[in-house]
Amino acid sequence: MKVLICDATDPKALKLIEEAGIEVVNQPDITPEELLEVISEYPCMVVRSRTKVTKAVLDAGTSLKSVVRAGVGLDNIDVAYAQEKGIKVLNTPSASTQSVAELTIAYLMALARNIPLMTASMKAGKWEKKSFVGSEVSGKTLGLIGSGRIGSAVADRAIALGMTVVAFDPYVTELPNITLMELDELLARADYISLHVPHTDETHNILDAAAFDKVKTGVRIINCSRGGTIDEDALYQAIQDGKVAGAALDVYAEEPLADPKLYSLDQVIGSPHVGAGTKEAKARVGEVAAQKVIETLKG
Ligand code: NAD
Repeated sequence: MKVLICDATDPKALKLIEEAGIEVVNQPDITPEELLEVISEYPCMVVRSRTKVTKAVLDAGTSLKSVVRAGVGLDNIDVAYAQEKGIKVLNTPSASTQSVAELTIAYLMALARNIPLMTASMKAGKWEKKSFVGSEVSGKTLGLIGSGRIGSAVADRAIALGMTVVAFDPYVTELPNITLMELDELLARADYISLHVPHTDETHNILDAAAFDKVKTGVRIINCSRGGTIDEDALYQAIQDGKVAGAALDVYAEEPLADPKLYSLDQVIGSPHVGAGTKEAKARVGEVAAQKVIETLKG
């Protein structure tokens, strides 16, 4: 009984699997070509986001019982085809919730108080006390697009900071302490908009030029969800036009980021898709992924 680890996975998780009597073949740099050659030997494979589990991989994986995604998004796996073939696709949906919610709150505060710009100014040896007048988040409205696990965790934290939280989520009927509303109403009301949706046909460029026309002037945007949910050219234009006062981005339509145009703007701050990049989340993701491997292989 063996499992193929296709992407870098927490060593403690690998140890847990081995302790359960399963052989671990750790190939964190395996290429797509190598994967196609060896996958028929394995009943289970573990991936993060680097490895693409395509139709070809699923066809070649004649012994595959399960694909375990150490993480949340399943964009790199052809889930429908796996289901058609009776191969289980398992992920670790709750393991990174706190980390992504905390990064979102970090961005909320960083945008409100211009922390990255002030840091750059200090590093340049300046003392620009008057240039960086911030704003309080307390008393402001946070509009969530998507209020599942991470959106709700962000809401709890924002409410504790004294914010009013509203949300647009057509698949949720009721949420404690959050007023659900249509997207247009949220766009008109929110001082901050934070996205927490998967990337689907419905959410593709959900913030586009038409949406930016409807936002409050001075709104700040945060995206720690998935690339492709914001039209990046429209965001660039909305910032240039003074409609959007700032944006914090962790995810991009193309990753690694191909066009750094947005980062030429002082109003844009961000990170290279590190929402789940904490020690705690990595350990939790690894542990839950290991449990899923053991469950599928040992029953
Ligand atoms: P979730 O499934 O718990 O919540 C997603 C919510 O989006 C659901 O409530 C769903 O009803 C809602 N939704 C779906 N379609 C919608 C639409 N058209 N309009 C509005 N709402 C819609 O997922 P989650 O765990 O909260 O994760 C949210 C997102 O964060 C996912 O895209 C996930 O991949 C991403 N994520 C990013 C990182 C990172 O590193 N930045 C890490 C983990 C998760």
